[in-house]
Amino acid sequence: MRIVRPVVRSFTRPHVKRASAWVRAGGHAVVWIASRKARLVFPKPRVGDEHDLGWWSVLDLGKSEYLLPETGTFAGLGMLVVPHDCYTIVRDRAARDSIHEGPTRAIDLDCLECGACCRANRVELEPQDLERFAQAGRSELARPPYARRDNGSVVLVLRRDRNCKHLHDDNKCGIYPIRPDACSTFPAGSECCLSSREEELGILDGAIP
Ligand code: SF4
Ligand code: SF4
Repeated sequence: MRIVRPVVRSFTRPHVKRASAWVRAGGHAVVWIASRKARLVFPKPRVGDEHDLGWWSVLDLGKSEYLLPETGTFAGLGMLVVPHDCYTIVRDRAARDSIHEGPTRAIDLDCLECGACCRANRVELEPQDLERFAQAGRSELARPPYARRDNGSVVLVLRRDRNCKHLHDDNKCGIYPIRPDACSTFPAGSECCLSSREEELGILDGAIP
């Protein structure tokens, strides 16, 4: 599938208008108000769209809320105060994307060939997943050895090699038609997808050129 993803660019305070134009053209901006004060600015997420890449950039920084300024240079855009422990992450995103000229970039991804996010990932099962397993006659998928309790949640078990127990050698998911919502809604082209591909497959820019 072809995904158009935002290109991340860093801006300093004197260049906030350029940052705003960059985001209004589809990119994401890391705006450095001071050397230890940064904002992530992104197009306003589409409510109800589980695959919105701006929303996933927020989640990927460990947050679930963001600002929507009504006035000023960034009016109408999404904005997040970048946590101090995420400075390296946003700097790395901007460094990765510094080779791209425009605010967006089209990449081709094939989840069935990739499987990177099925490795070393924590997949929590939700009540609707348990219901789906039961309806398919696979209630055992919610119990050991396939799932375990962790901090009050039920999570899929990983194998010793840190791959999901359901991931086959050919990268295919063994329970694909009834896979958990966390898997079916995992957004291709998001920062979490790109970092999975970088860590597991050594592909730095999201897609093979
Ligand atoms: S890492 Fe991205 S491309 Fe790979 S399977 Fe997951 S969502 Fe698809
Ligand atoms: S259940 Fe399937 S899609 Fe989800 S992590 Fe495991 S192998 Fe991947």
